[in-house]
Amino acid sequence: MNLDTLTIRHVLLRTQRYFPRSEIVERVGEGRVCRYRYAQLAEESLRLANALKSLGVREGDRVATLLWNTWPHLVAYLAIPNIGAVIHTLNLRLHPNDLAYIAEHAEDRVLIVEESLLPLYEGFRDRAPFEHVIVVGDASKVPGALSYQELIQQYEPDERCLAEVHWNTPAFLLYTSGTTGRPKGVLYVHAQLALAALALTSTITYYVSKDDSILLSVPMFHVASWALPYAGLIVGAKMVLPGPHPQPADLLNLLSDEQGTFVAGVPTVWHDAANLVERYPGRWTFSPRLRLILGGSAAPEALIRRWESFGVTVIHGWGMSEVLLGLQAHVKLSDFPPERHYELLLKQGMPAPFVEAKILTFDGKEAPWDGQTMGELLVRGAWIADSYYRGESPDSFVDDWLRTGDVGIIDSEGYVKLVDRLKDVIKSGGEWISTIELENALMSHPAIEEAAVIGVPHERWQERPLAVVVLREGKTVTPEELREYLRERFVRWWVPDAFVFVDELPKTSTGKLAKAVLRERFCDWKWEGSE
Ligand code: AMP
Repeated sequence: MNLDTLTIRHVLLRTQRYFPRSEIVERVGEGRVCRYRYAQLAEESLRLANALKSLGVREGDRVATLLWNTWPHLVAYLAIPNIGAVIHTLNLRLHPNDLAYIAEHAEDRVLIVEESLLPLYEGFRDRAPFEHVIVVGDASKVPGALSYQELIQQYEPDERCLAEVHWNTPAFLLYTSGTTGRPKGVLYVHAQLALAALALTSTITYYVSKDDSILLSVPMFHVASWALPYAGLIVGAKMVLPGPHPQPADLLNLLSDEQGTFVAGVPTVWHDAANLVERYPGRWTFSPRLRLILGGSAAPEALIRRWESFGVTVIHGWGMSEVLLGLQAHVKLSDFPPERHYELLLKQGMPAPFVEAKILTFDGKEAPWDGQTMGELLVRGAWIADSYYRGESPDSFVDDWLRTGDVGIIDSEGYVKLVDRLKDVIKSGGEWISTIELENALMSHPAIEEAAVIGVPHERWQERPLAVVVLREGKTVTPEELREYLRERFVRWWVPDAFVFVDELPKTSTGKLAKAVLRERFCDWKWEGSE
């Protein structure tokens, strides 16, 4: 048995040997695209690999990227791990202080950054550890920086630069978004990426195939883009890169122009895109084979229904920075009558093959599969992290299981339904209230665009739910109407005691609700009738 083909080296070899003519499309500006073939990707990766080696990058060194989903980023995904170095994708939505901390913690030796992101780099340049900075674009803007384009021309695509990588050679470093405490590093070895990519091609996950036109909309700086770039490359799929700063309209244009069959992302992005599709009927035509994978936060029923009404197959999945590929909800849909479609799809789902999941109750016992016993979701599997970089935060792991910080239940089918984040769940009078379920119900109301529910301290009940709501344009609704709407769906004590109407909800760097910010904003909230 040779596990050493489970490497990014193997991905590179396949692109060269088996799929040289497969297509890659990159959006380079307003309505403009560049078209490439896999053969060019392999060639440019080898050129970059040679350039990095000649700059002194050795095996095990970290090379950082600060790039959108662009052609050079895909090149870096192949080049860096193939010289035995570690690609470290920096999240361009973070504050410069966080980036300084992360780059220093990772001891990154080289940075590849695109010109449009230089102002961000300026914000932490004096605290960054980089020995070399490579700029995609005009390098003269940074003293001492090298030009990506010049390096690529200067070096040959000589394969002798490739390292003897093994299945357990470190390949990819990313940091958690750090909503609680400092960001923590997750270091993936080659086999973890290879296996997650392979699993993505399975019919019971997302069945990525040669016939797919994949719009790579999940940021490549986030969770290794779910290992999707590697999955697409091993099967020779058409890859579409949305380029810098893609807006929902850009994503829709690419889906329509390139007849995308696979796209993924957080509900927020696809919510905005759905608004456009409804506002401009007929402007975009989608492939009948298009499937939209919603993940990163809970997919609301209203959003699933809207995309289905556009003729798109919607799949709900769950994952996290430490997981790559975790749970999928569509797997057993065909076993159930159509009226149970949404009940199943709203769950986060069952584990991908070779992933195991269990719920640990708050008193430390494994929860039965009864669809009601709540507890923390724990997962383990070949591509799931079993420690953080440099052994930080060991309490996040129990034996080799990852504590996800998500609170859920498991039903008799083995389907996990998340009801909250551990830190978001509300405990009112000793009983748990799921904020996710309340939010989903609120967002199914025709007058509501977005909703967040948070727990606010209460004298009598310790905590009570407060709903913060954004109305759809031109719509109105009263708190009493909303209360009535929720009473039809939930027990009385779950219904929020107050509704606050705002113009916008705060979001994290990955487009999720920033509940910590909301809790902070409403920490001095006075309930009616209290002093
Ligand atoms: P990140 O590591 O930034 O990708 O965040 C991972 C977290 O996002 C998970 O622990 C969940 O809290 C949340 N998440 C991801 N997918 C889902 C989903 N389908 N439903 C609910 N929460 C999700």
